[in-house]
Amino acid sequence: MSDENGHSQFDVLDPANGELIATVPDVSPEDGLAVLERAAAAQAEWAAVPAWERGEILRRGFEAMRSEQDRLAELISRESGKALSEGRAEVAYAADFLRWFAEEPARIRGSYAEAPSGGFRMLTTPVPVGPCLLITPWNFPLAMATRKVGPALAAGCTAILKPASLTPLTSIAFADLMRDAGLPEGALSVVTSRSSGALSEALIGDERLRKLSFTGSTEVGKGLLELCARRVMRTSMELGGNAPLIVFDDCDLERAVEGAVLAKLRNSGQSCIAANRIYAQKGIAEELVAGLTERFNAIGMGPALDGGQMGPLIDAESPQRMEALVDDAVTRGSRVVAGGERPAGPGYFYPPTLLWDVADDSRAMREEIFGPVAPVRLFEREDEVLQAANATAYGLVAYVFTQDIDRALRVSERLDVGMVGINRGIVSNAAAPFGGVKESGLGREGGEEGIDEYLELKYVAIDGDASTPQLGTGPQAAP
Ligand code: NAP
Repeated sequence: MSDENGHSQFDVLDPANGELIATVPDVSPEDGLAVLERAAAAQAEWAAVPAWERGEILRRGFEAMRSEQDRLAELISRESGKALSEGRAEVAYAADFLRWFAEEPARIRGSYAEAPSGGFRMLTTPVPVGPCLLITPWNFPLAMATRKVGPALAAGCTAILKPASLTPLTSIAFADLMRDAGLPEGALSVVTSRSSGALSEALIGDERLRKLSFTGSTEVGKGLLELCARRVMRTSMELGGNAPLIVFDDCDLERAVEGAVLAKLRNSGQSCIAANRIYAQKGIAEELVAGLTERFNAIGMGPALDGGQMGPLIDAESPQRMEALVDDAVTRGSRVVAGGERPAGPGYFYPPTLLWDVADDSRAMREEIFGPVAPVRLFEREDEVLQAANATAYGLVAYVFTQDIDRALRVSERLDVGMVGINRGIVSNAAAPFGGVKESGLGREGGEEGIDEYLELKYVAIDGDASTPQLGTGPQAAP
């Protein structure tokens, strides 16, 4: 499909009913390189903008995002399907990355020291990496964008944001908002495309691009790492997860149920930090399952803009995948205790579904579910559940529910993950370093560490002995 000038376009559809929301440009690899040209041309100028000014632009972006919360939430809910309350929560979370990174440019510091051997001085200065390609997924279209764009701009890098083709509208609105906040031409561009592979390959292959930050599936991330290796390019990778949620007998049951519902069903389960496998200790298992069943059955599913508490899944294939995971678990001896029936009617809906007594070799225990299906498995001993929890190639997050502080700390130390939630079903915060180990990724986003992903440290050796002033002996020393 093309517009009146012959430029290719593609459709953006509403997952609640399949209706057309908008059409956006389908940026070709050639057009993408022209965008990189502009980002590279703007790099030196943006890096030279004083730190306080960069921070003030980000701060104005934060304020605009907060005052436009309802409009942006509606857009997010419209194109991604999530409940409006979740859309609003995402805008607040996304804005916090701009607020956090608005304060960082002024804190970028180097060092100056005399070499321990004497004879020369050593000067270090963090400098921006350079033009960055930032690739984001559809599940948190605004927050995943600000989590990358915030630190990139704060560090003095220009950025090309490539959103998921299913949810490009939020990124376009975000870039407009940053332009209105005073961001100069070329500092942030959005490229929307249905040929993500070809476009990314062209950009990564070009020597003007200096960094890739990717959030998405482990499979695509591995392919991009291979491309980046050819140019020894800096990368940050936020990839898939298979989070264990462990409920011990000594937990506060109400908090465990609340935490598990939030960790499992936020964004209809389509979150990289969604609880994938629920491990319930023998003494609490029945009560936990009863509590979860009640909560799962009470959730009102429906289109976000009609007030649905849980929206549809992102595409037609997703409910089919849920059905296949549930069938596989049942074939291996599991029981469906809530949900499990796909509703009739339009949209890609699938209900909150609880599976009891799920075998370890079930697909639902091994694969990233990315939907509202919760497999529960029984355990007896702490060492047994730790072994099961760590038996995965992923290592993004884990959740632990216990009232025993010793156990909470011991278990979090032994879980092979980047993040742990203790008695909480959510860990995300702009001030915290978000990221995983093993095949869940490389690097951290947010927190004090977030900006380092966009900085290189330059070291300058300066010949000559330092002449150390003798404090207290100079003419100014006298009162
Ligand atoms: P995906 O298929 O990997 O897509 C993510 C992004 O990569 C989209 O913009 C997509 O564009 C693009 N893409 C796809 N194939 C590409 C290729 N060959 N070259 C370059 N770019 C390509 O993942 P998704 O289905 O959107 O998102 C779900 C995954 O993201 C899950 O695995 C989830 O765990 C992970 N995730 C991780 C985090 C984290 O912080 N660790 C956060 C959120 C999501 P198109 O839309 O055009 O395909």
